[in-house]
Amino acid sequence: MTEATPIESTDAIGNSPASPQSLPWAARTRGLVGSIIDSSTSLLQRQTHDIVSFAMGSPAAEAVPFDAFRQIYDSVLADAGAAAYAYGATEGEVALRDELLAYLESTPERTSAERLLITSGGMQGLDLAGKVFIDPGDLVIVEAPTYTNGSATLLTYGADIMEAPTDDDGLMVEALPELVQKAGRLPKAIYVIPNFQNPTGTAMSLERRLLLLALAKEWGSIIIDDDPYGMLRFDGGHIPGFRELGGGDPLVFSVRTFSKILAPGLRVGWVDADPSIVAKLIDAKQTMDTCTNVPNQLLSAEFLRRGNLEPHLVRLRSEYHTRMSAMQTSLEAHFSGRATWTNPEGGFFLWLTFGEHVDTSKLFDLGLQKGVAFIPGRAFSVTGQFGNALRLCFASQTPERTELGISRLAEALDAL
Ligand code: PMP
Repeated sequence: MTEATPIESTDAIGNSPASPQSLPWAARTRGLVGSIIDSSTSLLQRQTHDIVSFAMGSPAAEAVPFDAFRQIYDSVLADAGAAAYAYGATEGEVALRDELLAYLESTPERTSAERLLITSGGMQGLDLAGKVFIDPGDLVIVEAPTYTNGSATLLTYGADIMEAPTDDDGLMVEALPELVQKAGRLPKAIYVIPNFQNPTGTAMSLERRLLLLALAKEWGSIIIDDDPYGMLRFDGGHIPGFRELGGGDPLVFSVRTFSKILAPGLRVGWVDADPSIVAKLIDAKQTMDTCTNVPNQLLSAEFLRRGNLEPHLVRLRSEYHTRMSAMQTSLEAHFSGRATWTNPEGGFFLWLTFGEHVDTSKLFDLGLQKGVAFIPGRAFSVTGQFGNALRLCFASQTPERTELGISRLAEALDAL
């Protein structure tokens, strides 16, 4: 091994270096809270013992269509030569835009070219929403619990986050007028994950979606409609989404991604919004990353062009249904009477709630020792609620590994 170069203790003229505290940080960095969810990836990678991880919201390794990807890389991308690695158009590669529009045409999410912006994953869609709509101090309503990477993104633009309660039918929209009245000002935006919510796995009822649309119109609030899991419904009937119900209303800002239905490492997603908003988003994206990863857009485009997406989704839905049912069976066997949990009709996650006395942050440490990982409930609330709950991703483990992991979780609870 080569020896590490020692860190300089003085500069070229003998001055000691500035301390990190004295750097001219932007005030914005105070809103940069990072992600407990994402940090769990590096924590888990450092472990050397066997761990059944229900932590990250990753597709099953077996669910990523590597063979199709390899074929496409070897043929289409190889044939495209250097063009596949040049700067692309900010709004996205023509090939992907065309294929995506054609695919969406057969779904309730059908849309038009001028409403579409290809993004670097869903996170960039959320970031762009914050960038063009949120000023410091603006009130933003989020679900409690919510995907805190989403609320953290809005926090970086200075949002004043207000948590609103949820139940098995999603955000309790009927509670919002009173909350807004108490806040004494109207929300600039309402951030919702309508289908198979992260972290609870529940879906917002149609009545509540309609009421939210009506309230947003009354208040002039943007609905940030974050729906990475909507195409992964494996049970129950379709509930029309905000894009569909809004009929193109400019207040509906829809964020979508290939991360959960193809692969998260591609970093390809899209925003569907009013054309006037998309024009602003293009300007905003040009100050961020110029364009989305071109090879991965071409890969996604060709996957769609070959008609691979629909059969792939059919397989995913069936596999995730099997995995969710397996997790329900294991939970019944090990946690009956000790916890309650949700029963999702799609997506990746379910939410487990213990009695008040159980602290799932402590349970996390014990679980890790026993070889199981999850995300503690507090990670899903900006005010640190849900200390007695946790999120389990059922999508990434086989039924056998799920049974092993849930039995380890029960041992950890015994030890606690
Ligand atoms: N929104 C929600 C609700 C998510 O669960 C995720 C991924 N965990 C994202 C957005 C981010 O998606 P991407 O990986 O495409 O940035």
